[in-house]
Order: sequence, then structure tokens, then C-alpha cells
Amino acid sequence: MTIEAYSVEDGDLALAVYLKNAQPGVMIDYRTGNSSQAPTQMGKVEIYVLNNHTRKFHRPSCRAVKDIKQSNRDDYYGSRDDLLDMGYAPCMICDP
Ligand SMILES: [Zn+2]
Repeated sequence: MTIEAYSVEDGDLALAVYLKNAQPGVMIDYRTGNSSQAPTQMGKVEIYVLNNHTRKFHRPSCRAVKDIKQSNRDDYYGSRDDLLDMGYAPCMICDP
């Protein structure tokens, strides 16, 4: 689902928000663009480092990243929500 950019009252353009999976329980007011989550969290694209052995994901700066075996490591560019949907859990150290 794609929400197109639209003008808000202060004249700024809101960024287009891409919702691959609408989350149950997240209410979106399409008139204002407000939701129960911070809008900047929605569809935010970042770089994460995945450990596909432990099914954890890390910030690239996490100190645990260097201990991930190359064969278990994947670099991922996308949204955190998608990682959660894929069954990955956030690292306890870097709290991505
Ligand atoms: Zn980490």
C-alpha cells in the first residue's frame, strides 16, 4: 500500500509512506497522517546487519557484529518492521 505525498497545514510536504504490511492495531488518520506510532518510524529504511543463524538484527555499529561469522551474516537495507515480520529479533546490545 502506498500513501502519496500530500500537503499538511504548515505547507510542508509529508514524505510518501510505504506500508508493506499494515500493522494490526496501528490506527492511521489519513486526513492528518497521524498514527499511534511516530510517523518517522513508519516505513523507515535503514541498514541493518542480520545474523541469520541467531535470527537477530543489529545496527552496523554494534560491537556484536564483528563476532558474526561471515557465513551467518547478511547486510540488510530496509525497514525494521519488515525484519520483525520476517521473524528477526532486535539485538539486546545495540537495541536497533
Ligand atoms: Zn547488536
